Amino acid sequence: MAQAKLSLSGALSGVVVLYSGGIGSWAAAKRLAAQGEVLTLLFTDTMTEDEDTYRFLRESAANVGAELIEIADGRNIWEVFRDERFLGNTRADPCSRVLKRGVARKWISEHCSPSAVVALGIDWTEIHRVERARKAWAPLEVVAPLCDPPYLSKANLIEWSNREGLATQRLYRMGMSHANCGGGCAKAGHGHSARLLAQFPERFGEWERKEEELRGQLGDVAILRDRTGAPPTLCPFTSFGGGSKPGKKWTCSRSGAAPAWLEPVAPRACRAFGGAG
Ligand code: SF4
Repeated sequence: MAQAKLSLSGALSGVVVLYSGGIGSWAAAKRLAAQGEVLTLLFTDTMTEDEDTYRFLRESAANVGAELIEIADGRNIWEVFRDERFLGNTRADPCSRVLKRGVARKWISEHCSPSAVVALGIDWTEIHRVERARKAWAPLEVVAPLCDPPYLSKANLIEWSNREGLATQRLYRMGMSHANCGGGCAKAGHGHSARLLAQFPERFGEWERKEEELRGQLGDVAILRDRTGAPPTLCPFTSFGGGSKPGKKWTCSRSGAAPAWLEPVAPRACRAFGGAG
């Protein structure tokens, strides 16, 4: 395993990959390792992750051949929403700000030299996020190897990991757009939440309960919006799951053949909730 270099002050130099357990940060690390970079893989645990994401995290780090550092604030996303008195949503993500970026920044400032480089798993389809990240991490240099050619899709990355002998994270196989926070996400939309309900009804129930607890503390807040009318209204998970709005209907459509790594999803994943379906 290639070890990160220590400077005279004892601080780490080289590249710190913000390693999430997702396919992007693995592929970014692989590209950097192939270029001979000395890597440290830094995982910031939200304490909300799926069991299989931890499996991929550790197996994939061994595949990269770099040291994996696992750190955590200790709280989960719901505890952060409670403490910040703010429920995350598509526009604001205190969960990620505190549990991911904040924890990583503190660790890097305490352990790395100013010449350390921060590497992200952002790919070319989200290149606009790189500039934002550069401003946020300044004065450290930020790189995003998946924004460089050859441009690979998520399916390409997953096939690549399979060729390396890595089993795909089950959240991807279930059709989730990312493999973090156990298949839920404060920034996710209805489709992602529908899959959470279909694949992990108990976990969805926990999201319902946690959101209701926060609604009791913070007032009328919700992660999801119902955009079927104008203006959009809040759509608490209890409504989304059919609890308080019988007849509410939401459907999603997916056309074309599913990629090979995507497991067929039970029909109710894409059918109405609380309605006849
Ligand atoms: S995956 Fe979603 S819920 Fe989890 S920390 Fe990131 S933004 Fe927050």
